[in-house]
Amino acid sequence: MKKILLLAIVTLSFGNLCAQQSTYWQQHVDYKMEVAMDVKTYQYNGKQELVYTNNSPDTLRKVFYHLYNNAFQPGSEMDLRLQNIKDPDGRMVTKIKVEGKEVKESRIKNLKPNEIGFLKIRNFKQDGVSASAKEVGTILEVTLAKPILPGGKTTFTLDFQGQSPLQIRRSGRNNKEGVELSMSQWYPKMVEFDFEGWHADAYIGREFHGVWGNFDVKITIDKNYLLGGSGYLQNKNEIGYGYQDAGVALIVPKKTKTLTWHFIAPKVHDFTWAADKEYLHDVVQVPNGAMLHFLYKNNPKIIENWKKAQAKTVQLMQFYNKIVGQYPYEQYSVIQGGDGGMEYAMCTLILGEGTYEGLVGVIAHEMGHSWFQHILASNEGKHGWMDEGFTSYIEDLGMQNIGLRKDEALYSGGYNGYYSMVNSGKELPQGTHADRFDENRVYSISSYCKGELFLTQLEYLIGKDQVAATLKRFYEEFKFKHPTPNDIKRTAERVSGAELDWYLIDWTQTTNTIDYGIKGVEEQAEQTTVALERIGRMPMPMEVLVEYTNGTQELYYIPLRMMHFVKAHSNSAIKRTVLTDWPWGNPNYEWTLKAPKNTIKKITLDPSGLMADIKKENNVFENK
Ligand SMILES: [Zn+2]
Repeated sequence: MKKILLLAIVTLSFGNLCAQQSTYWQQHVDYKMEVAMDVKTYQYNGKQELVYTNNSPDTLRKVFYHLYNNAFQPGSEMDLRLQNIKDPDGRMVTKIKVEGKEVKESRIKNLKPNEIGFLKIRNFKQDGVSASAKEVGTILEVTLAKPILPGGKTTFTLDFQGQSPLQIRRSGRNNKEGVELSMSQWYPKMVEFDFEGWHADAYIGREFHGVWGNFDVKITIDKNYLLGGSGYLQNKNEIGYGYQDAGVALIVPKKTKTLTWHFIAPKVHDFTWAADKEYLHDVVQVPNGAMLHFLYKNNPKIIENWKKAQAKTVQLMQFYNKIVGQYPYEQYSVIQGGDGGMEYAMCTLILGEGTYEGLVGVIAHEMGHSWFQHILASNEGKHGWMDEGFTSYIEDLGMQNIGLRKDEALYSGGYNGYYSMVNSGKELPQGTHADRFDENRVYSISSYCKGELFLTQLEYLIGKDQVAATLKRFYEEFKFKHPTPNDIKRTAERVSGAELDWYLIDWTQTTNTIDYGIKGVEEQAEQTTVALERIGRMPMPMEVLVEYTNGTQELYYIPLRMMHFVKAHSNSAIKRTVLTDWPWGNPNYEWTLKAPKNTIKKITLDPSGLMADIKKENNVFENK
């Protein structure tokens, strides 16, 4: 008897131990790359050594690499998608006339052999032993020479030859503003393996998911080029170009045609660089923060905007540090390049010729991604709403903070976008893979607008202060990890005490919409009965503002039963009454106010406007 009991105790505690060990893990990579760029052909040759640590509980017999450059070839999956999607990205097509009709033609389709992108791999070895590596579109599929056990480490080496494509999307050469090299997604990049398995997604058009690790990169290039990107320059006093330490004489190298730039980027999941002969380079220190680098073309038309934007960038960085968490690197670079704006580790590539407001707006967005993608690295292919939506949220607050967004229009772009998508009838659940949306427009609104509304509407549900606390805690607990939708939901639950599972499901996994309405107001001599109805599928708690003819106001709060929560009352200037909760299963709700006939002027559901009710007309009752 005793023995059995003892065994039971041992089993029990071992069980607990197992449960603890099966919590979060992530893979780890240490890259070493040496690459030489030929600026005449835009081809480059490199060597890569990658020490891969398998922190997963699985034995791995295969690994995968991304070969993103291969997307920029006629007939690639990206090209075919471009030819078949209803609303192709305007940057990736040219408009031509066919029999008098305007047609959009894929720019990839017409690339010549010396204009395409490619990445070719040779000499793949695992711990010195050859392994078979097969190219499948933009993915390299490697059958390992020997399996990698859980907790095991292995070293992959390979040689690569690449060609930077004519700029089509994000990366490439000679973009429309004349920036010569935008080198994003340019190297053989290990695919992420996480608790969901491998993410060997083809490069069809949408964004990324990378493995956390360290990069040591040496780039040899014509000495007339100025570089910027991820990582800290190790030999800055040899390179100069504004990177050297103040007051230090440059170490002038022997007569050479090239310079080798040595960068180290720690704790990142990607490495990007850009190069141009005409870059100007300004350096601005954020007080108690990172050093900001600005690289932009020596083009008289843009210099004033780029100078003026620098102080605003400092303010934005300080603001994001305050509302999310301290930017953890010592450097951030804003680089003219690419084809719009795209976030990378410790830097962004953006177009630089637009208006001043446009330039600052793009910086506010892309630098915001440093938090929501390059520190909190959610999977952009699967949960585009997490990085785009949350970045849009802090971007709006940031633009308001630096005086470039009016208070009354703070989130209006997000709400208007969302309503237009709902009204179009084309909405798909946010859980749709980013590449699988029927139209680019629906993907964009779903991730940027509806993703932003996840947080603005959360303010309605748990309060603005609680959302602010949620973001800070989310940052602290998930920085340098891969947070998932459930992680932001659980964080908000831990902070507020509310149950939000229903919110995550309805908002992000379905296209259920919110429509509550005032069904009737029945005035009697001494009291008034208000009847509300839930018309849409999606549940919500109700905040109701009652305005009286004598000028006074009061609030009524109807908790949503499944939330098990009463929101704190934040505006002490107005009286609030908490009513009995409203169970979702009942589409109707009514309560009685001690308001005699003709004393009520107006009743409004959700006076904050933060609830994304798709039919506002029935949210207001006015006594005429
Ligand atoms: Zn974005």
